[in-house]
Amino acid sequence: MTKTAGRTVARPKAIKNREKPIQKTRLAIQAAFSALCVWIGVEMLLFVRYLESGGARSFVERPPGVDGFLPISSLMNLYYWMHSGEIHPYHPAGLFILLAIILVSLVFGKAFCSWLCPVGLISETVGDLGKKLFGRTIRVWRWLDYPLRSLKYLLLGFFAYSIFFLMNEIALKRFLDSPYNLVSDIKMYYFFADISQFALIVVGVLLLLSIVVRNFWCRYLCPYGALLGLTSLLSPHKIKRDPISCIDCGKCAKACPSSIKVDKVKTVISDECTTCLNCVDVCPVANTLYLQSTATKKPVNKRLVAVGIVAIFMLVTGIGIVSGNWQNDITPQQYLQHQGSLHSYGHPTRTDDIERLRHESPDAQQSAVSSPRR
Ligand code: SF4
Ligand code: SF4
Repeated sequence: MTKTAGRTVARPKAIKNREKPIQKTRLAIQAAFSALCVWIGVEMLLFVRYLESGGARSFVERPPGVDGFLPISSLMNLYYWMHSGEIHPYHPAGLFILLAIILVSLVFGKAFCSWLCPVGLISETVGDLGKKLFGRTIRVWRWLDYPLRSLKYLLLGFFAYSIFFLMNEIALKRFLDSPYNLVSDIKMYYFFADISQFALIVVGVLLLLSIVVRNFWCRYLCPYGALLGLTSLLSPHKIKRDPISCIDCGKCAKACPSSIKVDKVKTVISDECTTCLNCVDVCPVANTLYLQSTATKKPVNKRLVAVGIVAIFMLVTGIGIVSGNWQNDITPQQYLQHQGSLHSYGHPTRTDDIERLRHESPDAQQSAVSSPRR
């Protein structure tokens, strides 16, 4: 017997769930996307070597996909596009990658995090290692979990406030035109290739924390995840549980990497659900736990989810390519010109810097985005 809507009804005979799990496919897609990122990293290394040689080495084209690692510049480009109707020619691929990721989350929830993001793959792998080493991972107490989870929203709020409230179209254009934005991909490359001791310690601590607390970075600190968590709430696809056929085994909640109590709800409505489908795969009863479209009220095939996520990503980035908004409009000569002064360019760090971008003369504005590092 089971209780539903205050009534006690007879539980139907449990039919074994024979549907094939999708986790291997998910892992394969995650691995392929991570391999693509590694390839982008290698091409970037060769491009930077060309710049470091002052143009003496043979030229290797800059991979446009590297713009996907510039989320702030991409967010500004998006806002600039919304304001002016124009796509800024510096790092335009980042804008299309951002749009692709947002569209994936609008359709399939926060699926980018568990199906495509290379940091998500590292985080999962490290979490699995922790589970193997210690037999379990720590679930942070609820009273601490909530404030920690809000940290990523504070970071997102800070970026959103700086861009959407403090910057007008002029300030946006001046920032996007600035030498700092022009070389932001090269600076980002050096951040990782020439990593400071402090940054290395921070990365090391985050990795260690991710061993004991599953997805520590993603759950508590990633502002990208916060943005997708919010957009995912609008997604028409949600995990549904049939409380009548459910045998209350709790396997779904145990398998959920986001610590969602799947076994206690009828519909998973959570900014932490990454549509990884782990819960659906482990459910032992057929037609009890599934991803449902609120439009058709029918379960969505797991393979369709995999195909859909990849197809949306390829479609939006493909539009960027065929519309001629993929390649950077920065020539290798421009990169070479700025290579020597690269380390003197810094981004605005205070609201005063943004105020200067909005109001002062072009010279003062340039200093707001090209002043020596503080
Ligand atoms: S509720 Fe299911 S789909 Fe969502 S994160 Fe948890 S295991 Fe993944
Ligand atoms: S895995 Fe979850 S939904 Fe499936 S039977 Fe067990 S408790 Fe119910």
